[in-house]
Amino acid sequence: MKKEDCIFCKIAAGEIPSCTIYEDEDVRVILDLGPASKGHALILPKEHYDDVCSLDEGLAAKLLPLAARIGQAMKSSLGCAGFNLVQNNGRAAGQTVFHFHMHVIPRYEDGADIVSWTPGSPDSGELAQTAERIREALEKQ
Ligand code: 5GP
Ligand code: ZN
Repeated sequence: MKKEDCIFCKIAAGEIPSCTIYEDEDVRVILDLGPASKGHALILPKEHYDDVCSLDEGLAAKLLPLAARIGQAMKSSLGCAGFNLVQNNGRAAGQTVFHFHMHVIPRYEDGADIVSWTPGSPDSGELAQTAERIREALEKQ
């Protein structure tokens, strides 16, 4: 179902023009208008899902193989040395468009700092306690 006022629904449906690099019955893959690097692409389902938590499982199974194909095509066409798959869920995680999408970000040997974090240093007790909390929640699902 299309969601009114969702820009990615409109782009995925072709109602708003985009630089499309791939399309099938389920997805449209477009170039990001604010790219992290040359060739930065977004995989958009044609159906509206807010984020990965509501994504259809059959569609989800298609997405990683497709992302791998796109990454390979970026390597052969753009000469990137690698690529990142990035997928943000929730405002706190950096999601700004609330229609599920996966970023495919070509990486060049230019030292660009695109996806990074400062490693924490939890002790073994804290790690064990955190793991226990998540395991308990998983068991309740
Ligand atoms: P998010 O932060 O939600 O994971 O990523 C949203 C991405 O969508 C950003 O990288 C942003 O540059 C891109 N974006 C936002 N609006 C548009 C648009 O209208 N067209 C295209 N091609 N990309 C967009
Ligand atoms: Zn949408």
